[in-house]
Amino acid sequence: MGQGVVIEKDNANGSNVIVNKNPATDEVISKVPCSSTAELDALLETAQTAQPAWALLDVAKRIQLLKDGMAELAKLHKEELPPLMTREMGKPLSEAQEEVDEALEKDEFLQLLQDSLQPKQHNSCLVVRQAVGVVVVLSPWNFPVDEILYLLLPALGSGNTAIVKPSEVTPETGAKVVSALASVLPPGVVQLAQGDGAVGAYLVSHPTVDMVCMTGSSATGKNILGSAAPSMKRFVLELGGKDPMVVLEDADLNKAAKDAATYSLSNTGQVCCSVERIYVAQSVYDPFCDLVTKYTRDNFKVGNGMDEGVNVGPLVSTMQRDIVAKQVDDAVQKGAKVLYKSPIPEEKPGSFYPVTVVADITKGMDIYTQETFGPVVALMPFDGTETEAIRLANDTEYGLSGAVYSQDVPKAQRIAAQIQAGQVGINCYALECMDVACPWVGFKSSGYNYHSGVEGFHNFSLPKSLVFVPPPEEED
Ligand code: NAD
Repeated sequence: MGQGVVIEKDNANGSNVIVNKNPATDEVISKVPCSSTAELDALLETAQTAQPAWALLDVAKRIQLLKDGMAELAKLHKEELPPLMTREMGKPLSEAQEEVDEALEKDEFLQLLQDSLQPKQHNSCLVVRQAVGVVVVLSPWNFPVDEILYLLLPALGSGNTAIVKPSEVTPETGAKVVSALASVLPPGVVQLAQGDGAVGAYLVSHPTVDMVCMTGSSATGKNILGSAAPSMKRFVLELGGKDPMVVLEDADLNKAAKDAATYSLSNTGQVCCSVERIYVAQSVYDPFCDLVTKYTRDNFKVGNGMDEGVNVGPLVSTMQRDIVAKQVDDAVQKGAKVLYKSPIPEEKPGSFYPVTVVADITKGMDIYTQETFGPVVALMPFDGTETEAIRLANDTEYGLSGAVYSQDVPKAQRIAAQIQAGQVGINCYALECMDVACPWVGFKSSGYNYHSGVEGFHNFSLPKSLVFVPPPEEED
């Protein structure tokens, strides 16, 4: 998405620096040096040299070292990370705290990873997992701790070495995650690069890199696929979404309305699997719109994420705020109705946008097709049939997540099964209820390969068959 982060020349030595700003106050937090191409070359050479010995370590030993690294992250930075995240990208402190707490709970995840890497015997053949080589991890700013870990831990656990380039929006948060892990791992196993998309692009097309793991927008993902194709690198790309929520006539409307608002607005709507399109059966559309409006009015307050009582922070940048404003204005011009717009701290310079409930969205509007990534609850009526629910939910280039609300669970499950998306909640928001063993998958433009769960872990290594001469068959 490129958040218009300013990269300027450092007058002292002529190198590039990221101007790291707080989106709630516009204050400069720090200036972070970008890695030069010579530095990137050196990081890659170190990673390549360190990789064979790391891959030769026993899997259990590698996983134990990763657990030690996570313990170090908790010890060094548990208190420090949430306020740093809030300052760098704006999310309310309570959400930042929640993210850090959840991110640090990786024991079960790492145990599953270890189990998934065990050899499998098939008669006289032994299938082992072999590391891919040198991996680049490129991460987004919206969950700046966990989105690194979901890619980095399986990459390292599988025997690869890694260079992590955090988002240019959250460079200091990313640096703390990498430095904690690096402090316990053998030298060169994990290293940090800093910079914007240009630094990412340099790494992606570098011949030393064997695999690119990236979480970010679909536009960047397509770009990366194009530029890395000639060198046939491996990929895990987790990309954008435009997730549907379907509310049928027989749904528990109170629960559905609460979830519609909560998961359209959490992280100021800047979640890959935010609820972005809410299709409501016509027969219950008006009461549902009323419930959503009331719940939103009563429960959300926009402001600086460091302030008490605020649960919706600023947008990550003025650029992102303007994208959201343009989509809402376009919708209104084409006939949508704004049911609610919250107050914002207007006297402050931050990139705030009101929490907005907008109804009667139709297909010709930008908000119907483009990822909004903002604090907007977008509602539209439909005829309430199963066929139309499926058609509308799939009416998008994306396929990340979705949700279906109905008290007729078999019916909801039938609809969910036909939604082209990696995870679909039935009477719940999928992300909230996911088990650690589930893979995280984007269909269509929402991803290329995937991570997590045994299926996802296997994308970070290659299966290799060791084939032995079968024993002679015993005669009867
Ligand atoms: P982005 O695409 O702008 O950037 C992601 C990362 O890629 C950053 O580190 C960036 O510097 C780097 N990058 C940018 N251009 C590059 C290029 N040409 N070559 C190599 N690297 C490049 O995304 P963002 O704005 O940081 O994050 C928001 C997006 O991420 C949203 O679209 C959101 O839906 C998506 N996202 C997806 C998931 C998921 O699990 N599917 C999770 C979180 C966020």
